[in-house]
Amino acid sequence: MIEKTIVPDKETIKSRFPNKKVLTRPKAIIECYQEIPCNPCETSCPFDAIIIGEDINTIPKIDYDKCTGCGICVYSCPGLAIMNVMIKNGKAYFKVPYELLPLPKVDEVWLACNRHGEVITKCKIEQVMPPKKTNYKTALITVSVEQPYLYEFSTIRSPYE
Ligand code: SF4
Ligand code: SF4
Repeated sequence: MIEKTIVPDKETIKSRFPNKKVLTRPKAIIECYQEIPCNPCETSCPFDAIIIGEDINTIPKIDYDKCTGCGICVYSCPGLAIMNVMIKNGKAYFKVPYELLPLPKVDEVWLACNRHGEVITKCKIEQVMPPKKTNYKTALITVSVEQPYLYEFSTIRSPYE
């Protein structure tokens, strides 16, 4: 169920995640909750892991056996509705789209925010792929947070604002 704020409730968010065992490798999480005419996620995936089908309004589904966690769909989605997730050694690693400047730098500590835009903890910047490399206007930032934030983390915010 989508709340009036357009922020999904916890159960809806969890329903978009695969079993934690699957997340020992990076996988795409698609948080696209409404039927809209859109399909760059499906057409950009080189592994045919995202299925929308003939009706372009269909909400995308993902085949986790096919998803390699490459991240292409993350920066291809115009709605910034996809992220990659992996869990390892008690930490959750997120690959998120980011369209603001300046970009973070590797090893910096930034703020981790939930889907309401509220700061929930700190995150470490693990990798930065600038827009030039993604060939889009969107950068791809990999960050790590403690695993208990797995279902809460949504995006990053600069600590220098
Ligand atoms: S992360 Fe890569 S393999 Fe997985 S769904 Fe996205 S584009 Fe396809
Ligand atoms: S590209 Fe993004 S917004 Fe469009 S259908 Fe796919 S997940 Fe939804």
